[in-house]
Amino acid sequence: MQKISILYDASQAVLSTFDLDEVLQQILTIARDYFHLQNVAILLRDKNELYVRCQVGWDEGHDKIRLPIGTGITGAAAQQKRPVYAADVTKDARYIQSSRNTRSELAVPLMVRDDVVGVLDCQSENLNHFDSETIDLLALFSTQASMALQNARLYSLERQRASQLEAINAIAQQMTAVLDLKELLSQVCMRIQHAFQLCHVSVLLKDEEELVLRASHGKLTGRAPEGGRLPDDAGLWQRALAAGKTLIENDTRAASDVALYVETASSMCIPLVSFGQTLGVLVLDTSRAGAFNPTDTQPLESVADICATAIQNAHYVERVKQLAYLDGLTGIFNRRFFELRIVEEIERAERFGTGMAVVMVDIDQFKRLNDEFGHLLGDEVLRQVSSIFHQQLRKIDVLCRFGGEEFAILLCQTNAVHALGVAEKLRKSVEAWQFPGVPRRVTISAGTANYSEHGTTRDELVKAADAGLYAAKQAGRNRVFLAPRRGLAQGSGK
Ligand code: GH3
Ligand code: MG
Ligand code: MG
Repeated sequence: MQKISILYDASQAVLSTFDLDEVLQQILTIARDYFHLQNVAILLRDKNELYVRCQVGWDEGHDKIRLPIGTGITGAAAQQKRPVYAADVTKDARYIQSSRNTRSELAVPLMVRDDVVGVLDCQSENLNHFDSETIDLLALFSTQASMALQNARLYSLERQRASQLEAINAIAQQMTAVLDLKELLSQVCMRIQHAFQLCHVSVLLKDEEELVLRASHGKLTGRAPEGGRLPDDAGLWQRALAAGKTLIENDTRAASDVALYVETASSMCIPLVSFGQTLGVLVLDTSRAGAFNPTDTQPLESVADICATAIQNAHYVERVKQLAYLDGLTGIFNRRFFELRIVEEIERAERFGTGMAVVMVDIDQFKRLNDEFGHLLGDEVLRQVSSIFHQQLRKIDVLCRFGGEEFAILLCQTNAVHALGVAEKLRKSVEAWQFPGVPRRVTISAGTANYSEHGTTRDELVKAADAGLYAAKQAGRNRVFLAPRRGLAQGSGK
């Protein structure tokens, strides 16, 4: 009767919670206190090994032990699927010493249906501590304990699944809302790291044939800087990309691959593929070996798919944005872009006190050229003039087709004398250029205006440069004029 009540209490206790750690602790405490034991441990099964998941009574270090199934008293219990008892451990060849004072040991397998999930290891300082009734009782208790363990595991798995599903949903919603690529990638890394409890999450994107670390989030020490190119022959990411499928390395220290982070012990690489196009790789790192289970890749692959589509969308939006500011015929910026940039450049010049200039250029007698040689050749001349300008200007200058055969150029950090010099260089280059199919010279006229001598607003500066251009035309074309100051225009050129 007393034993039944012990069993009842014990079952109630272990089944009272879904928290795995609490269940384990309850099992240990009950086994120790009800059965007067010195050392109790719960070993769980990991493939063909048992490892100590928790214990009471032992010195530190006992929890590092891993035993193959079949080895020791506990290993024997797991293999035989029944309690194994050594009444006097010194007389049992299977016994492996883990505590000096132990005289008898009883190992009871923890079973779920026909599977061994672990072993309850009970050790006593007394010889022959366990009578057959106690063994039966512990065996009964262990079935209750196994059930509680299994429930807690299922519960935590369910909770993990639910939180991952929630995360996938949140990521999907967030991703459709973020169209800026940089912002998108940083969100991706942050959310995945948080939802899947990883040490570090990184996105590598293809840039032509190379992979570039575009974003990352986590606590590990990076080997490559953000924006840095990665060696293409040494990483798991490269192999995943080549194989076109998810790859896992659960012991990177033993592998020949170079990991992205100094502390990486396990790594998972998922190719980012959208509409059959491989964009890059999602890299997940943890500092724990054996962190990734090949059967658990599916939720992460779903997330990678969502990300790939979102990245593709953001790429597309960037491209559309770019197209909206480019001139279709010449490929240089259009007037819309000029209107935006001139405001920014004026602000910069104002704030930093650096000069800036506007140059308005117009091709001379272009109507005649069209009339004589045809519109198509006119188009080709426009393209070639753009290309000459493009070659002559600095990278920071902004070259735009203002409309028809007119160009507007923003010269950053440039004073009036320098601006006139640049315009003159452009005039000379066009004058010297032999345009195929045009048997005579093509020339340009230009007017330049400077912030703040000729104006401080967009309209003032464009108007002033236009006035310079008009003066150049009036003076006979193929000339460059500085915007008139106080009604006067000063020219250079032919
Ligand atoms: P000016 O020296 O005074 O500037 O004389 P112009 O003939 O260059 O000036 P006008 O404004 O009279 O003529 C500009 C011509 O440019 C008229 C138009 O047909 C032509 N044009 C405008 N856009 C294009 C284009 O995209 N392609 C071609 N081929 N011609 C164009
Ligand atoms: Mg014109
Ligand atoms: Mg013209």
